[in-house]
Amino acid sequence: MASYLEHENSEYKIVLFENLSHTQILNAKVAIVANPKPADIAQMKNLVWVQSLWAGVEKLLQDVPDASFDIVRMVDPQLADTMAGSVLAWTLYLHKNMPAYKQQQIHKIWKQHIEILPEEKNIAVLGLGNLGLSSVLKLKENGFNVSGWGRSKKEIQGVTTYHGDAGLVQILKGADIVICLLPLTPETNNLLDKQKLDLLAPDTALINFARAKIINYKYLLEKIENSELSHAVLDVFESEPLENNSALWDDPNITILPHISAPTNMKSASKIALKHISEYYQKDVNPTFVDKDKGY
Ligand code: NAP
Repeated sequence: MASYLEHENSEYKIVLFENLSHTQILNAKVAIVANPKPADIAQMKNLVWVQSLWAGVEKLLQDVPDASFDIVRMVDPQLADTMAGSVLAWTLYLHKNMPAYKQQQIHKIWKQHIEILPEEKNIAVLGLGNLGLSSVLKLKENGFNVSGWGRSKKEIQGVTTYHGDAGLVQILKGADIVICLLPLTPETNNLLDKQKLDLLAPDTALINFARAKIINYKYLLEKIENSELSHAVLDVFESEPLENNSALWDDPNITILPHISAPTNMKSASKIALKHISEYYQKDVNPTFVDKDKGY
């Protein structure tokens, strides 16, 4: 990241934390962070805002709970595009029965599965923000029947949208594939609990590209083992890397990914961070801050 920042930036002095003098640490108004040590941040007493390189900032909010500075999360069209590509790829993986064909090959079974049209497949996207919206549009472009759920009411052409608790029940009940793109907040923690997972039909599959704690993985595994859900593609875990002894590794109806659905692109992220810094210093314009009460 530092090299990208140096390449993109000619105006501002960007210094790695370990190279800052005591005075610079005290005087810094803006910091660019990715999993910073809370003790380092605590020393920077005059921070006005910090730019996170990640889209999800729950860890930063948790590590520095009463921060006096504001937080800017990474909102990058490149990131949204990468996530939409991953959402489409893993939706097609499920739609085209790839997990079943992989297992059939292992057991030398020749069996064709009937493939319904994308328009007959109901995809429910939970979270309609930067990543959710771009994923919804990509799925639509590829012919899927898409619905979406968010906190506030939204209008997206050609997409049935839901909000609120009743909306969540409705969207889950009708879904063939549920895709989670919500931020982890006090409200979304364990949102897909036993009760919500029980609303899903037995042939439903789930993709989690957001955060592990949003879904009760223990119960999810139990349901998959009992054939009460068809498959889960999981990219995020409470502890990463996923422990060797996790039962999630062993189930053929669970696909484990090592947190790769949408890595921050350092080139585009550097440009965004520098644009925020330049607008702040030259035009006195603040970037959009995270709502600390909402947690995203
Ligand atoms: P975002 O722009 O803040 O969008 C969040 C969406 O979730 C919004 O539509 C919001 O609704 C909705 N939401 C929040 N709380 C809700 C609640 N309690 N009930 C219903 N809807 C709620 O976030 P984003 O940039 O799309 O990122 C989403 C998450 O993706 C991040 O927080 C991060 O955890 C995850 N992520 C994962 C990866 C990966 O590689 N696996 C990479 C990047 C990000 P409103 O629109 O009504 O506010």
